[in-house]
Amino acid sequence: MPKFDAIIIGAGQAGPPLAASLTKAGMKVAMVERHLFGGTCVNTGCIPTKTLIASAYAAQMARRAAFYGVTLQGEVAVDMKAVKARKDTVSGASRTGVEKMLRTMENCTVYTGHARFESPTTIRVSNEANDLLEAPKIFLNVGARAVIPQLPGIDQIDYLTNTSMLALDTLPRHLVIVGGSYIGIEFGQMYRRFGSEVTIVEKGPRLVAHEDEDISAAIKEILEKEGIHIQLNAECIHFRKDASDPEQPNVVGTTCSEADPDIRGSHVLLAIGRKPNTDDLALDKAGVAFDEHGYITIDDHLRTNVPGIFALGDCNGKGGFTHTSYNDFEIAAANLIDNDPRKVSDRIPCYALYCDPPLGRVGMTEAQVRKTGKPALMGTRPMTRVGRAVEKGESQGFMKILVDAESKKILGASLLGIGCDEAVHCLLDVMYADAPYTTIQRAVHIHPTVSELIPTVLGDLKPLA
Ligand SMILES: Cc1cc2nc3c(=O)[nH]c(=O)nc-3n(C[C@H](O)[C@H](O)[C@H](O)COP(=O)(O)OP(=O)(O)OC[C@H]3O[C@@H](n4cnc5c(N)ncnc54)[C@H](O)[C@@H]3O)c2cc1C
Repeated sequence: MPKFDAIIIGAGQAGPPLAASLTKAGMKVAMVERHLFGGTCVNTGCIPTKTLIASAYAAQMARRAAFYGVTLQGEVAVDMKAVKARKDTVSGASRTGVEKMLRTMENCTVYTGHARFESPTTIRVSNEANDLLEAPKIFLNVGARAVIPQLPGIDQIDYLTNTSMLALDTLPRHLVIVGGSYIGIEFGQMYRRFGSEVTIVEKGPRLVAHEDEDISAAIKEILEKEGIHIQLNAECIHFRKDASDPEQPNVVGTTCSEADPDIRGSHVLLAIGRKPNTDDLALDKAGVAFDEHGYITIDDHLRTNVPGIFALGDCNGKGGFTHTSYNDFEIAAANLIDNDPRKVSDRIPCYALYCDPPLGRVGMTEAQVRKTGKPALMGTRPMTRVGRAVEKGESQGFMKILVDAESKKILGASLLGIGCDEAVHCLLDVMYADAPYTTIQRAVHIHPTVSELIPTVLGDLKPLA
């Protein structure tokens, strides 16, 4: 049986850099990947979607050309085959890069196949040789996949997920998206801009329910302005096939009331959440504990309940983003190699929603701050009063920053506007520095940028009523 110092299962966002660090530290490592190197982000997540969003943005800017005084001849047309080809090139280059790095890494042996535990220290790989590998340390970086809800009629229709959606190279006539959160919104705006009719169906009373209500409302307005239909409070989602309209055979019912008309679509995308890939790892054979949603239970140093077994990335339920998975790698490597006790709880929550304009988020929402009952200050500014946004002709959205009234530390921010996925980092960095907001309020930022208004917003804080 091949013996290693460490086995890594899953070549996602944490596994490959961890393999590099462990081998550099002199360890003999086995990397097991069952499908595409680079995992979700590279193949079916961030990279392909943001590449497509760039094409959609180009189409939108072309449509708005006259606003900028630019004349185009004829209608703006989108070549979906070319759009997909560009996405495949960008995503493919990244996947090939990860695979090449692993296969040429000294002291790293790559196994292709599905890995399952046989015991706390052995892993069976479902490849031709049916390899059984042994190591005292095993790192799980197995990621997550789209949830397929068991809603009435789901088996009758041909639904898409984020994965199959990315294989399309034609334009859906009417894309009906079930789920009004990050994935649904990004695909929805992108396909509307490509030229599809788009309807987003959301069970709850608003989009992106865990953001503040004003953010949900602003995003809804932005999407509706582009002609996206949004059906909220769809408390009784069900499906049926109706071949009487062969171009739009998929029917989505949203309420159980006969009065509400069903929605007919050519395509249906399910975007209602993710579940960890932990149900097919034979975790029971190793005795690894997981919660009721399948997330592997870890401590602040990514250790599971079984000594020597660690869980990183989406499968531990502590992040759900590429940057959190990569940070898990950094924490694992710091603890194991550098004797540096970095912890998961050191992380400040941050992420972006890549609608256009994007939402940059850090720390607490206003609702969360209010819930603490602690005295707080808030500063806001519409993007119509941000010079850079006005100059660019992209002034939708607003910025909102919350500060602890006593400590003067930044508690959180929601920045919805052009460039806000970048501008939010000046707040994030001050929070990591554990400095008061006055540090950045006195900083001189470059003109003209979106970030230059952050000190201005902080200079005009008002008590949270
Ligand atoms: C549409 C979409 C858009 C997204 N956009 C963003 C974004 O803009 N920004 C962001 O930060 N995040 C985004 N995400 C989330 C991000 O992609 C994930 O959080 C990130 O990829 C998680 O990485 P990971 O390392 O946990 O696992 P993954 O990248 O999912 O990798 C897991 C790997 O493990 C392999 N594997 C699983 N089980 C086994 C097994 N038993 N044996 C062997 N191999 C196995 C899989 O094949 C896969 O390669 C997006 C996700 C989606 C779906």
